[in-house]
Amino acid sequence: MEIYDHPTFRMACHQFDLVADYWQIPDNERARLKFPKRSMTVALPIHMDDGSTKVFTGHRVQHHLTLGPTKGGLRYHPDVALGEVAALAMWMSWKCALAGLPYGGAKGGIACNPSKLSMTELERLTRRYTQEMIPFIGEKVDVMAPDMGTNEQTMAWMMDTYSVHTGYTVPGIVTGKPVSMGGSLGRRESTGRGVGYLINRAMDTIGLTPGQSRAVVQGFGNVGSVAAFSLAKFGVKVVGVSDVSGGLYNANGIDLLKLDKHIAEHRSLAGFTEAEPISNAYLLELPCEILVPAAMERQITETNAANIKCRILAEAANGPTTPEADVILDQRPEIFVIPDILCNAGGVIVSYFEWVQDLQSFFWTETEVMDKLFRILEGAFVQVLNLSRKQKVSMRMAALGGGVKRVQDGKRIRGLFP
Ligand code: NAD
Repeated sequence: MEIYDHPTFRMACHQFDLVADYWQIPDNERARLKFPKRSMTVALPIHMDDGSTKVFTGHRVQHHLTLGPTKGGLRYHPDVALGEVAALAMWMSWKCALAGLPYGGAKGGIACNPSKLSMTELERLTRRYTQEMIPFIGEKVDVMAPDMGTNEQTMAWMMDTYSVHTGYTVPGIVTGKPVSMGGSLGRRESTGRGVGYLINRAMDTIGLTPGQSRAVVQGFGNVGSVAAFSLAKFGVKVVGVSDVSGGLYNANGIDLLKLDKHIAEHRSLAGFTEAEPISNAYLLELPCEILVPAAMERQITETNAANIKCRILAEAANGPTTPEADVILDQRPEIFVIPDILCNAGGVIVSYFEWVQDLQSFFWTETEVMDKLFRILEGAFVQVLNLSRKQKVSMRMAALGGGVKRVQDGKRIRGLFP
């Protein structure tokens, strides 16, 4: 499928091929499992604040519809491309299936730099994208959520635009909304808290003590910052953090509350004086027990995989490790990898809870949400760990295998029409 050609899509396909070979998925089932069901690309003309008109490009990819509606985030980033979105949709499929959620995977994105757009421009862009997507989405068809560069406000504009079209409020059209608009308690923190929970389980598994462990977090956004605070709560010392402007290092630990305040004031961690500025590349190679890439794809590559110095690699971002880096990590059994489709699954699990609450108009307490979240994550962690040990395969192969096989089973049972 040439339309999807992109380094990240090739990476997702390569991972799928490894899983299909290992679990001997028959040739005539592979293309059906691998390629997206459908995709849509739209031109988004909007009025800019200076009076000019600018046209942005938006995409949405629905990977498979076998297990239920599709579900996945919406990303605003200058590098958004159809192939990247398709790869992220494919990973969402395996992630939802691994967690046992009744969804296929989807992803969307607009190629733009949200930090360079005003609130009014962002609102017009979001509303226009939603309007263009109306024939393609629905609360029983395809449900969006925040991802890089988008947030609760983005979801509220989407819900409002869709609801204006239908003539009544449809909270189930998106998840990750503000709680006052039908969002779920705990959704904003769910991905990062899930990352924290799984790191704690991994520390337990390999015998690390939180109080003697150091963490480094790449990307101090929604996921990375909440994961960092969760780790600090367990007693882990966070010694390195970064955002798109660069990294910070303090061997004695970074004061996260002060850093958070600095970011709230400056919208960036640049200029924070209580840590030493370092590059994002160097940050990944810092000595630590826990390394959490929580920003972009393809950060751990064949160039730096041999140099990372952690004991746990917790993939909070989607696709942070390339297949070439995986080959190197497979030769480094001292590193325990929590693969992305498991590590960051907390977000889509609580999105699923939010969707269920919206459909029923019956809302749960934060304790109920968190209890249910940790129960699902625990089940998925044990399933992946046991499969990895039993089959003597990497945690990634075990996680992807669990997800892909559930979708394969679904397709087999439903059959092929006509
Ligand atoms: P976000 O926009 O809130 O934060 C992203 C952070 O990464 C920001 O601090 C940004 O400055 C930083 N960043 C961007 N490019 C960078 C680079 N090249 N080097 C270092 N830092 C960089 O996004 P988020 O929602 O926290 O998402 C982060 C990752 O987690 C993405 O891979 C996303 O797909 C994944 N994810 C998010 C969720 C969710 O619920 N938000 C769920 C699952 C997975």
